[in-house]
Amino acid sequence: MSGWDIKGWCPGALRPMASGDGLVVRVRPPLGRLTPAQAGAIAGAALAHGNGIVDLSARANLQLRGVTEASHGPLISDLRAEGLIDPDIQTESLRNLIVTPFRDAETTALAATLTAALARMPRLPGKFGFALDTGPRPVLNGASVDIRVERAADGALILRPSVHGFGKRVGDLAADAIAIAEWFIAQGGVTEGRGRMAALIGKGVIPEGCDTAPANPLPQPEPGLHPEGVLVALAFGQMRAETLLALAALGYEIRPTPWRMLFLVGATTIPEIAGLITDPADPILRVTACTGAPACPQALGDTRHLARALAAVLAPGQTLHLSGCAKGCAHPSPAPLTLTATPQGYDLIRGGIASDIPSLTGLSPQALPDLLKAEHAPHL
Ligand code: SF4
Repeated sequence: MSGWDIKGWCPGALRPMASGDGLVVRVRPPLGRLTPAQAGAIAGAALAHGNGIVDLSARANLQLRGVTEASHGPLISDLRAEGLIDPDIQTESLRNLIVTPFRDAETTALAATLTAALARMPRLPGKFGFALDTGPRPVLNGASVDIRVERAADGALILRPSVHGFGKRVGDLAADAIAIAEWFIAQGGVTEGRGRMAALIGKGVIPEGCDTAPANPLPQPEPGLHPEGVLVALAFGQMRAETLLALAALGYEIRPTPWRMLFLVGATTIPEIAGLITDPADPILRVTACTGAPACPQALGDTRHLARALAAVLAPGQTLHLSGCAKGCAHPSPAPLTLTATPQGYDLIRGGIASDIPSLTGLSPQALPDLLKAEHAPHL
């Protein structure tokens, strides 16, 4: 067993996670953005010290895969030179922040304030996270976080416990964010559910003063041209380092998003770079698949090769979650159709999560295309 193979906390860069293809080093972009130099440094480090694969996580972080214990130190040195590494593990693990890619004039300054506050937070569960969603309209509603900073319809800043419909008006962002984290701990939130805000709110435990509705959210945006730049998507949130190098060479600030997409700030044309998805109709965007075998040691079957094959037979509008085991990392919420790998083949779950009771069990990969077509056919 590797010295890094420790479960129960969120991995970072200073504390990587052991996986089937080596160490996974998670880089949390400071203030939710990367300069071209920083993006190039991450790509270069992935080639020099990893296996050249870079993941974009559901929390808008970048992960370098295939790192060894010997290459981890030089990798950290390279990334630290570009300002991408926190001073210590504790600061890194508390910096759980997703920042909207579509920002208002104050968002970056607010991200700096919130980042400084995170370093002073009380000890929170590993997966406890914040979203700063202060663009013209909220867009991060689908992201799995615990505390959201948003704007009310009148433009006022609010702090909203995740999944609750209303937020509390902010006086001092840093002090108020720390106060709501302390409230969460005082209410027993650390031991409630899996240490997530949603479990506490689900019990009807809500902080005082949460009476202001956020501005109406926008649906998750699609790849393509946007008023402030271009969104490009990655199949399963993964790319080769060469793709990231080519993006860095375009010279735009890059804002990672939780939607398996990167936002190129200020771009006015859609780049033609191998490994990018720029057509919103591409069926691969309707398949969610975790790492699977062989890169994940817990996987009971292939996911991504199969997912590419199955994407080709999906009907328009049909979506699919393909999971390498019942843990369902890539899609923790229910999906219309889920295929979960088991030692006996693939199980089909309708309208559930990867660990729910299946409707069909022990399916072979060869049987799946016809099955998906039948699932979409109108039932008479
Ligand atoms: S769902 Fe299972 S196989 Fe897939 S990444 Fe998570 S632990 Fe690995």
